[in-house]
Amino acid sequence: VAALIQSFIGHTAHKQALLAGLKSQQWPASFIFYGPDGVGKQTLVRALLQVANCEHSELACGVCSYCVRSLEERNELIIPLQPESKKVISVDQVREVHQQLSLRVVGDKRRFVLIDPADKLSPGAANALLKTLEEPPERTHFFLVTQRVSRLLPTLRSRSQVWGFTALSHEDMEVAGELDPVAIRWSGGSLSLAKWIQDGPGKEAIDHSLQLFYSLLCESPQDWKKNAPWFFSEDEQRELSFRIWSLALQQRAHGQNDNLEFLPADPGQLARIYESIQDLQKDVESHVDKQLALDHFYYQIREAQ
Ligand SMILES: [Zn+2]
Repeated sequence: VAALIQSFIGHTAHKQALLAGLKSQQWPASFIFYGPDGVGKQTLVRALLQVANCEHSELACGVCSYCVRSLEERNELIIPLQPESKKVISVDQVREVHQQLSLRVVGDKRRFVLIDPADKLSPGAANALLKTLEEPPERTHFFLVTQRVSRLLPTLRSRSQVWGFTALSHEDMEVAGELDPVAIRWSGGSLSLAKWIQDGPGKEAIDHSLQLFYSLLCESPQDWKKNAPWFFSEDEQRELSFRIWSLALQQRAHGQNDNLEFLPADPGQLARIYESIQDLQKDVESHVDKQLALDHFYYQIREAQ
């Protein structure tokens, strides 16, 4: 058990401002926390729930029943709202939460509704949520967490206090402790990604990503499907590889990694490869045949060099 706010990594200005708002009773009914995956958005929500309800300490004691309950998956203090069937948050789920909110919380504690990822709210669910926000229950706060704020209804955005979170710095991640330099380097500022790399499976995934990047840059065109089957079938690994390639370009540009000498040294060429990666990503998202998309990428970066 722990007082999360006291060990919370990075985002110092956000943390201070949110704590100050809580102390002066100026919190709105709805917050949007947006930014990359794994930088601490949901952890901060849990940390704030502890601070809002702890009976013993201004920055949460970490041991009282309210601090402990703040970390539980769900109870009357924290109501999570996540996609269920069909990968969306349905209007029925929002109505169910609305019902739960009609019950008062014992001891006038603050109650959070944690909606993550909020971009999965169906249009109907988003509208139902808006209705709830028009007359929010007392001492209840909605936290809409997302990587893509542009996918939320503008009306939801305008009714919420919006906080953008950025990638963590290398310094922040060193404070987190026990992360090796390889994990930090390839995490792109995401603590959860760094831990995944550190723990093993991530290292292999990075090797696969870099091997394909190398073949695309340095070898003749090939049957990508045969040589990198994961690119065609494993969405998460593919998404990760786009991230890894972009980080590789950055590291090359700053001369931070001697193993990337297969990449050109010229910043202009690196920038063009970066743009090609973005094009490839767009192609894949819009369901262009992946073999064709990779071939196209292959010839595009050939022109860039
Ligand atoms: Zn406590």
